[in-house]
Amino acid sequence: MKVTDHLKNAKGTIFSFEVLPSLKGRDIQDLYDGIEPLIEFDPSFINVTYHREEYIYKKLNNGLHEKIAARKRPGTVSICAAIKNKYRVDTVPHLICGGFSRDETEIALIDMQYLGMDNVLALRGDPVKGEGTFVPDRDGHANASTLVKQISEMNHGRYLDDEIVEGIPTDFCIGVAGYPEKHFEAQNLKTDLKFLKEKVDAGADYIVTQLFFDNNKYFEYVEACRKAGITVPIIPGLKPITTLKHITFLPKTFHIDIPEALADELEKCKNNQQVMEVGIEWGIQQTKELIKAGAPCIHFYTMGKSEAVKRIMKAAF
Ligand code: FAD
Repeated sequence: MKVTDHLKNAKGTIFSFEVLPSLKGRDIQDLYDGIEPLIEFDPSFINVTYHREEYIYKKLNNGLHEKIAARKRPGTVSICAAIKNKYRVDTVPHLICGGFSRDETEIALIDMQYLGMDNVLALRGDPVKGEGTFVPDRDGHANASTLVKQISEMNHGRYLDDEIVEGIPTDFCIGVAGYPEKHFEAQNLKTDLKFLKEKVDAGADYIVTQLFFDNNKYFEYVEACRKAGITVPIIPGLKPITTLKHITFLPKTFHIDIPEALADELEKCKNNQQVMEVGIEWGIQQTKELIKAGAPCIHFYTMGKSEAVKRIMKAAF
């Protein structure tokens, strides 16, 4: 079932979460171990991230280094199929522009269609680790809006090969990303919203936000989107802070602020356990307030760890 149908049929706020594919060489059970504790809360859908190649430097016998492209977390589409099959839950594979030509994108979408997937989250993807700017593949998409357009075209039976005259239309519900604190490359929020609207006009059905810790930023963002003429559902994305490392890692990686009140509490913490308690309490209050304000869905970034999300769900839903 499509994400938008879940939202339409819901009597209140629904619950969903995101997982990362297991590291190459590990068992898929690692992934299931992160999912199982959350199944009792009846998630409407589960997202699976897509990870492009990274460049690693392998030392050769002659002392020189060879640059090698490696994908550490493969399997997004097959993992979606496996989760759907095992838990009877709808899944949302992420699809990125980086590393894909338009033709490869089409093939990935055909695979998803054959596997019975109704949803896809269309993203540009970040620059390759260690590279400052995003470089599209030869004949790939430079931003998410043209990727959305390609999916939309397929939803109308229009494939890249114009010799296909009556192509079977796919029927994907298309999600895209939004940034309440602005995407880090955007000059300002106004231009970011202009490009967000471009994604919606190209065929996106809903938006999932980057994680945030200050609900006011989400409320203001929704208001700004509505003023900009963006009418699709905007799903808030939440990630509980659970380790000392997160305090610096999350703002640096996701370009988001930690509100002063939360930072003050975290400053008192001496170990991960104390951080986790603060993070969970903050997550409970955030979730309760978002539900009260009528958020369509609460989407959690689990990053493979379910304990904190489980405690938030128990207390807030
Ligand atoms: P876009 O919408 O293309 O925007 C990127 C930047 O370009 C923005 O600054 C925007 O303002 C600007 N822009 C857009 N269109 C144009 C245009 N026509 N001309 C000029 N500028 C333009 N990354 C992964 O690699 N794998 C994942 O699985 C993944 N999952 C994610 C899930 C969510 C919910 C979110 C919020 C992010 C996720 N990301 C993932 C990260 C995402 O790929 C990065 O944030 C990336 O830098 C931007 O992707 P986007 O789809 O928002 O890009």
